[in-house]
Amino acid sequence: MKNDKLIVAIDGPAGSGKSTVTHLLAHKLGYVHIDTGALYRAVALRAKESGVSFDDPVGLGKIAAASKLEFQWLDDDRNHVFLDGRNVSLLIRTPEISMAASKISAYPEVRDALLGLQRRMGGQGGVVLEGRDIGTVVFPNAHAKFFLTASVDSRARRRAVELEEKGVYLDFEEVKKQVIERDRGDTERKVAPLRKAADAIEVDTTQMTIEQVVAKLVGIVQGKMQKS
Ligand code: C5P
Repeated sequence: MKNDKLIVAIDGPAGSGKSTVTHLLAHKLGYVHIDTGALYRAVALRAKESGVSFDDPVGLGKIAAASKLEFQWLDDDRNHVFLDGRNVSLLIRTPEISMAASKISAYPEVRDALLGLQRRMGGQGGVVLEGRDIGTVVFPNAHAKFFLTASVDSRARRRAVELEEKGVYLDFEEVKKQVIERDRGDTERKVAPLRKAADAIEVDTTQMTIEQVVAKLVGIVQGKMQKS
């Protein structure tokens, strides 16, 4: 029987176009978009607000386990993240929280606390999850897996534009430095490092428009639907 409620995993480094692509892909398929990075960011925000150090894995693990994290679809056609009932979608997008999320996501205590939640959120299918370890750890049996990449310069450029849209103006070299630093942290950490799953389809988005990337992914997912 044709299965149209697939689990789609999109992994890749910061600035590879994941968020925009996942949003549009989910929209085209009528799927739910789950931004797992937002969960790590929300935990970092909660830690900051509670005065828990980013160097305290046990305290951070407790924060992650105790936080009520939910997504809610709002009128702007976006899936917003709620932390203990409060919409923190904008608060978690600062450069400080980006670096903190990257740092705390290296701790097994934090990752373990968020693993079950991500599986519950996506387990019913009809979802596109974006992150770093979706195809390798969270849903190793996802029906479709993609790994998006792009050159460091183009990723830093996209990131700078994204920040400017939020009113944050940083020097390009500074943005690039942060992108490189986050990549290093994400790929070198011991637990669930950023890497392409053996069966993921790699898409280099450097020379592609968003529309081209989305069209490619939609075609592949629809092909999988016919086969599953
Ligand atoms: O995707 P985003 O940049 O919002 O993620 C913030 C941070 O959360 C990343 O730098 C990464 O360290 C971490 N993350 C992760 N695993 C995921 C999603 C995000 O470690 N599945």
